[in-house]
Amino acid sequence: MSTESTLRVVWIYPDLLSTYGDRGNMLILAHRAALRGIPAETIEVRSDQPMPTTADIYLIGGGEDGPQALAAERLITDGGVHKAVAQGAAVLAVCAGYQLFGHSFFAKGAKYQGLGLLDLTSDRGETRAVGELRGDVDPRLGLPPLTGFENHGGRTHLGEGVAPLARVTAGIGNDGQTEGAWHGKILGTYSHGPALARNPDVADLLLRWATGLDSLAPVDDTWADRLRTERLTAASA
Ligand code: GLN
Repeated sequence: MSTESTLRVVWIYPDLLSTYGDRGNMLILAHRAALRGIPAETIEVRSDQPMPTTADIYLIGGGEDGPQALAAERLITDGGVHKAVAQGAAVLAVCAGYQLFGHSFFAKGAKYQGLGLLDLTSDRGETRAVGELRGDVDPRLGLPPLTGFENHGGRTHLGEGVAPLARVTAGIGNDGQTEGAWHGKILGTYSHGPALARNPDVADLLLRWATGLDSLAPVDDTWADRLRTERLTAASA
């Protein structure tokens, strides 16, 4: 987008994948854009609507197994997210949304096809991963430690075509070693919280990717910093 035009942020399938409060990611992005004087339009696209292909940022959240499988099926049939990614859109995919961006995932005991936009597969772990998640982000992204709350039964295995978003320092993430994935302008993570409230630097990274700006004006992050300090400390306890 050019700096004069409106940033368009799509929230994918609020009717299926809004179980874990991840819609907050959309609110944080719009807020942080507005603080920089960047007009942002948020668009909620239900699973019975066609997916816009020309938005700047696409967000997808966590959910239960059934809606996750249905969402994957509909997104594959629709094809809009594939087109948007091919045109350079930025993406933040969380938990169920993250798993379904991979090649395949397990839900309700069966294997489902994913979008294949991230080179990874997910299967089930022996235990459910529930609790604080913390990781050191890939240094190339220049971000402070990731903090989130995870709640998932799946485990994710990364292929050669993606880099781990972070190295786990508390919690499970993908497999107890790595957390999330990164490829091009697509980020996947197991972090709820919502992730962008707990990691405002990730929100700003998505905004920079979407606007093409090298840097954004600083904003007052006193409250976000307090939240981060509290949650990062809690994860160490
Ligand atoms: N249903 C998936 C799992 O349990 C994702 C859960 C979630 O989105 N929090 O692995």
